[in-house]
Amino acid sequence: MREPEWLTSLNDEQKKAVIHEKEPLLILAGAGSGKTRVVTTRIAYLVEKLGFSPWSILAVTFTNKAAAEMRERVESLVPGAEGAMIRTFHSFGAWLLRRNGAPLGLKSSFTIYDDDDTLGLLKTLFEDLPRNELRLIAKNISRAKDECLSPDDDLGHISADLDFPRYYKEYEERLRSIGNADFGDLIYLSRLLLAENPEIRGRLQQRFRVILVDEYQDSNRAQFQLLQQLVSPGTWLCVVGDDDQSIYRFRGAEVENILGFQDQFPGTKVIKLEENYRSTGHILAVASHVVAHNEGRLGKNLWTRQEEGLKPCLAYLDNQNEEAEFCARQLADGNWSNSAILYRTNAQSRVFEQILRKYNINYRLVGTLSFYSREEVKDSLAYLSFLSNPADEVAFRRIINKPSRGIGAVSLRKILKGEGDFLLSQNLEEALKESVGKVKGKAGKGVASLIDLLDKMKELMPLQENLGQFLKELIHESGLLDHYKQQDKVENTQRVKNLEELVTAATDYPSNSEGLAEFLELIELDQASLEEEETDTNRVTLITMHNTKGLEFDRVFISGLEEGLFPRGAEYDDEQEIEEERRLFYVSITRARKELFLTSCRRRMLYGRTEQASPSRFLNELPDEHVDIQGAAPSLSAGHGNLGFESEYPPGTRIYHEDYGTGEVIRNVQNGGHLVIQVAFETGHSMTFLPEFSGYQLEKL
Ligand code: ATP
Ligand code: MG
Repeated sequence: MREPEWLTSLNDEQKKAVIHEKEPLLILAGAGSGKTRVVTTRIAYLVEKLGFSPWSILAVTFTNKAAAEMRERVESLVPGAEGAMIRTFHSFGAWLLRRNGAPLGLKSSFTIYDDDDTLGLLKTLFEDLPRNELRLIAKNISRAKDECLSPDDDLGHISADLDFPRYYKEYEERLRSIGNADFGDLIYLSRLLLAENPEIRGRLQQRFRVILVDEYQDSNRAQFQLLQQLVSPGTWLCVVGDDDQSIYRFRGAEVENILGFQDQFPGTKVIKLEENYRSTGHILAVASHVVAHNEGRLGKNLWTRQEEGLKPCLAYLDNQNEEAEFCARQLADGNWSNSAILYRTNAQSRVFEQILRKYNINYRLVGTLSFYSREEVKDSLAYLSFLSNPADEVAFRRIINKPSRGIGAVSLRKILKGEGDFLLSQNLEEALKESVGKVKGKAGKGVASLIDLLDKMKELMPLQENLGQFLKELIHESGLLDHYKQQDKVENTQRVKNLEELVTAATDYPSNSEGLAEFLELIELDQASLEEEETDTNRVTLITMHNTKGLEFDRVFISGLEEGLFPRGAEYDDEQEIEEERRLFYVSITRARKELFLTSCRRRMLYGRTEQASPSRFLNELPDEHVDIQGAAPSLSAGHGNLGFESEYPPGTRIYHEDYGTGEVIRNVQNGGHLVIQVAFETGHSMTFLPEFSGYQLEKL
């Protein structure tokens, strides 16, 4: 029988990897050499040629977008094979825990806490601690979980604070008693569950005869240990990765996982792929040359049979406006969907957005403050979460006085603590009902109206056609709609539009508790695929370097090649950090198929201040013969500052916002006698506020 094209098109090494049977397989290979293609083809091959049921195959990738692409790819090879479980580690963990989490006290409808929710919970536990400290605790808890450490383990290397184990323990206990899980738990608890329950572990090992992991170099210790639980001697395990592309060590990724793989899984076969199919010659030469400056690497050779192509272009520009204009000029050919502008920090996207809009170039932003982290969206979701789990204290605190019902901090404390030291209740809806009569005046009325609302919503839910309809009612009845209509008018925002989008997203789900749980899970874990639903596909991608993992574009712009910005934090001169940044540069360069532009500014404005910039050290590492240079490297001239403005929040003021985190005021303007401030957040998002109006959510640092 003739072999299908998807098999014959592979090179010998790729084919060996695809048809390899039984023993563990490690594919170690550089960018663009077809690792991901091997993974997808292997799934197709196992199903089509060896008769494996898709049901028995688990494939893990790094981002939801990658998982979605992998499913599509597998489907196009062998229709039906995409029924394999293709997920991210986190989404696999959520799947596992929803079905099997009972021994750990998890309900199937548990809510997954994001970083904000975690912070919210810590705030309720340790009211007296300053916010900065809470943020540090949150970060360290997540690190501990990435390393699979419980509060009782030795945590000295994570935090020198002797109280940290206690904070961690109390947080864990509270989270368990609420019945929810945070992001780190999805891996941490999954591993624990399997380690402690041989019956469940056995069942999963029976089911998943084949396990594949893409981007293995960025897995962390907890993920490795989860994998160990899933693998039995009979499992066909295959991992693929590239040590040169390990860019998440700062988040606990352990390159040891890949380097020590053969020791961990004896009998492992190793396959190396050396032909690059993605990039033209000059681009590949630049990439290889750059990464060769790293010491700590296995070292690989990549070659391509493609033509040399265009030389990458390095452009020196005066400032970030010019940088964006430069990119816009290249994009004038209208070929947008195959182009991407990469930057190191989200904050850099703002100027690109501005300039691209000016030239009517359509773009899509990937991975900034996501739709679902917006205040109005989070408020609506908090109502849904609370209806789904009345023990969810974080959601409860969010909705109790939103929109304002006159319930202040004092009343809230009364409700939560009850009269006779009512232990923080398992069911806050009951606590709310018990507080009737005890909370007086305006707040008392507020409590009554919230109780009415919740009762009414529960009655309404089964009567609605779908969850979208229900959400629409909820937004209206709760007063959120009016609240945000008002705010849109004053702040000129688009919050109501965002609420409408949320309603649309919910219409695909049934209006019952299962639909609710499913919708919340999708939002927590699979935002990428939801955001992808767009009709106009000819758009330039604006994306951080980290988010480009595994992707490819015909034309790539790598912006902001300046010391301090990229490599970032270079003032510390920690060689290991520089190597990680250099790997990030390598990842960025190797996204390009045909055209690569590198841009570096002589001056840059960050947080409202224009400063002299000097070219990234990485630019000295480029091989001259493969690069064209435009413009002159910086000569020194005086930078200029920003105009002041008399207000409570002058530019430069550091602030903290409940929903968006830490940021800096970059502009003050006057609007109808009100002070409007523009704030650039660390997340890269820029927002305007009327401190008069939203001051209660703003805090000066
Ligand atoms: P990265 O390290 O960036 O994740 P990768 O090793 O996973 O890269 P792929 O994305 O699988 O590489 O492949 C890169 C490109 O090369 C893809 O467009 C893929 O379809 C193509 N490709 C891979 N192998 C072949 C082949 N044998 N013939 C033709 N094209 C190939
Ligand atoms: Mg890949």
